[in-house]
Amino acid sequence: MSKIKVKTPLVELDGDEMTRIIWKEIKDRFIYPYLDINLEYYDLSVTHRDETNDQVTVDSANAIKKHGVGVKCATITPNGDRVKEFSLKKEWPSPNGTIRSILDGTVFRKPIIINNIPPAVKSWKKPIMIGRHAYGDIYRDVELQVTDPGKVELVYTLADGTEKQRILVHDYKGSGVALAMHNLDKSIQSFAKSCFNYAISEKVNLWFATKDTISKKYHARFRQIFDEEAKARAKELEIAGIGYYYYLIDDAVAQIMKNEGGMLWALMNYDGDVMSDMVASGFGSLGLMTSVLVSPEGNFEYEAAHGTVTRHFRKHQKGEETSTNSVASIFAWTGALHKRGELDKNDELVQFAEKLEKAVIDTIESGEMTKDLIGLSTSEKKIGLNTFAFLDAVKNRL
Ligand code: NAP
Ligand code: MG
Repeated sequence: MSKIKVKTPLVELDGDEMTRIIWKEIKDRFIYPYLDINLEYYDLSVTHRDETNDQVTVDSANAIKKHGVGVKCATITPNGDRVKEFSLKKEWPSPNGTIRSILDGTVFRKPIIINNIPPAVKSWKKPIMIGRHAYGDIYRDVELQVTDPGKVELVYTLADGTEKQRILVHDYKGSGVALAMHNLDKSIQSFAKSCFNYAISEKVNLWFATKDTISKKYHARFRQIFDEEAKARAKELEIAGIGYYYYLIDDAVAQIMKNEGGMLWALMNYDGDVMSDMVASGFGSLGLMTSVLVSPEGNFEYEAAHGTVTRHFRKHQKGEETSTNSVASIFAWTGALHKRGELDKNDELVQFAEKLEKAVIDTIESGEMTKDLIGLSTSEKKIGLNTFAFLDAVKNRL
């Protein structure tokens, strides 16, 4: 069989622990034998980040900016224990955080739907994708505890020192609490652009929800910016055959429980934090959740939503058998290959990505799966496979 030619480089970010083990197995089985591809490789293992003083993370993000598409393995975000474990120079920041800030991107989570792994919510038939704005609001607020009677005010002073506005928050007669939070038009605009990019890329409706009936300036500003973006992108939405819908947040929550899914749900920071965990657990397993970072310029980085699965890696190191789910990692690869194929108008590559996804889904639907899915599956006959046997079963089917 001749290999499929991929002319543009794909940026590959390797990672740590059990996911690093799986990563190599995926490439050996599904990438090298079928694709003639130039993988621009960056080793983001925690030890190599340490050796390069984290320069490798910055370089990998710039490579994604240059080539447009990347695929990333899960990586360790070091804490005190990890600094000791690997004798690191310091607690390096989260690579995902570094890459996200360089690309100015938004992370979208997308569950993988498999017929014999039903979601907890009966009506959900298609993926509900979640986009969370990851700047500001309570995550960058200032708070104070009011101990004695007195006034708390919000003061807006211009750069030249003139006081522009002073608003009474509350005239306290006793003790209480207060907070002030902020956001930036630029950040909200980037978020909106990334959400429209991803909805158009996935050809799904875009939902956005806030509480602008109550928050007539703060939440209303988010709604305005989304409305402006919807207007500017009207033609693209039409071509993709999708729509933009604004809801009040409580209405959106009520509707999502009765809806069949198949939309991108964009949310403010706090709502996104809460709702992404609700939707993820509703769809069942961390091993079936993928994630993609989308920048306002239209760069894409695909990865599994889970971490490096340390507990399984410890067993693997001792020579014990593991049954780690590789589905989200495989779908990170297929997501990236599919996007690369779309951008290059390489139909063969797009079809290959779709065939590999189908091979994974058919394998599980036929009853062969890793052990984390056994309890969730409605199949009568099911076999729990180890990490490598599952990959072999997918390979046979492909
Ligand atoms: P984790 O790696 O997601 O694993 C937590 C637990 O979830 C596992 O012990 C396992 O449960 C289950 N699980 C997750 N993925 C699975 C899979 N593919 N197949 C089967 N079971 C799976 O989270 P963590 O243990 O809290 O974090 C480990 C490391 O990952 C940390 O160093 C953290 O910094 C890093 N991390 C990286 C990313 C990223 O790169 N995007 C994200 C999160 C965490 P059982 O043990 O019960 O089987
Ligand atoms: Mg959360």
